[in-house]
Amino acid sequence: MLGGALEAEFRACVHCGLCLENCPTYVQLGVEMDSPRGRIVLMRGVLEGAIDESAEVRRHIDQCLGCRACETACPSGVQYGDLLERYRSTTRPIAGPQSRLLDFLLFSIFPDRRRLGRWVAMGRLSRAIGVDAFLRELDLNRLLPAWMQRLMAMLPSDGGQTEPLVDRYPAMGKLKGCAELFIGCVGEAIFASTNRATVRVLNRNGIEVSCPPTQTCCGAIHAHGGRLDEAREYARRNIIEFAGDDPIVTNIAGCGAMLKEYGRLLADDEEFAARAARFSARVRDVSEFLAQGDLAPFSRPLAAKVTYHDACHLCHAQGVRRQPRELLRAIPGLELIELSESEMCCGAAGTYNLTQPELSSELARRKLGCIEQTGARIVATGNAGCIMQIRTAVAEAGQSIEVVHPIELLDRAYGGA
Ligand code: SF4
Ligand code: SF4
Repeated sequence: MLGGALEAEFRACVHCGLCLENCPTYVQLGVEMDSPRGRIVLMRGVLEGAIDESAEVRRHIDQCLGCRACETACPSGVQYGDLLERYRSTTRPIAGPQSRLLDFLLFSIFPDRRRLGRWVAMGRLSRAIGVDAFLRELDLNRLLPAWMQRLMAMLPSDGGQTEPLVDRYPAMGKLKGCAELFIGCVGEAIFASTNRATVRVLNRNGIEVSCPPTQTCCGAIHAHGGRLDEAREYARRNIIEFAGDDPIVTNIAGCGAMLKEYGRLLADDEEFAARAARFSARVRDVSEFLAQGDLAPFSRPLAAKVTYHDACHLCHAQGVRRQPRELLRAIPGLELIELSESEMCCGAAGTYNLTQPELSSELARRKLGCIEQTGARIVATGNAGCIMQIRTAVAEAGQSIEVVHPIELLDRAYGGA
């Protein structure tokens, strides 16, 4: 028997099945063991020793996106994301194919934005000189592992490193407050321009922004892969680095969700528990932060039909749904069209598009189908992974739909740089 808090968490599931139709893998595959209810039965059975952790069991658990749509749907308050992380921490270090190169990439390159930046620069260079086009032309890309093909396809050509970030950006006009910016690893290595747009929009709204220079990875990749000790170490380093009292603002839903979990992650750490809880209480998604007050007047209307995709780690993990929509509707000329299945995962799910490329692509195509129905030419979404995933689906379908972070649309309406 499990006993203790974990037992109580599993017992919270009363097997009602109300989560099933909200689970993307159940909707896509129609298999009970690929639903939250089925996976809870499997995880509990393995941990209690009643079920062997066979390849089939692993497949069902690995196919979980960790999107937490089941938590939104569950009337019993099952903390599915926490159960999954704890299960993975006691069974295997990571879901998905056990490729040493993939592990190295996920756990050594991705969390280090400088190393990741160098890999991204190499990837962009190889695309610029036509290496991946050459491989595709000769059909040689099929010889590469599926995750590597996805990675090559997803790398955006623009948005990379511009000028280095400085420690402090003063507010424009009357000072209304201060914020510390969490820049993220993928965020800064691949979407540096989104971080710059975030700083400009905050400054225009009277917010002085500081960027703690030695801030590190949020630890989400490690936590979701069950490497909780490594995630805790990243959390401690960030808590030390963001030592002040100002709000901590991020534009990346996945990082924001993780930063808000530090209190729980370090609850048993005598030295850090209280500091972690205080740190998490300071974290805000940039849309949450800006929607708290009146926006500064915009200088340029943006006549465009825009739809909005709810990133899972913003809507399900953080409960942030209203604020990004309010900000987009505030832009003069912008028409916001609601997206059907907006809260259904696009298949990005952290590193899922690398570990489960086929199912991930199916979900991306499903998302694109919903986007096409809106007639919008711009999709806004608050997570770097979703942006890459949906952009890839758009490109593969030969569409010309722009996929951006909402903050970039606000920045355009303020006149940009
Ligand atoms: S996770 Fe929640 S919604 Fe799903 S079966 Fe269990 S109790 Fe019902
Ligand atoms: S986290 Fe997402 S994919 Fe996994 S069981 Fe819950 S709803 Fe399904």
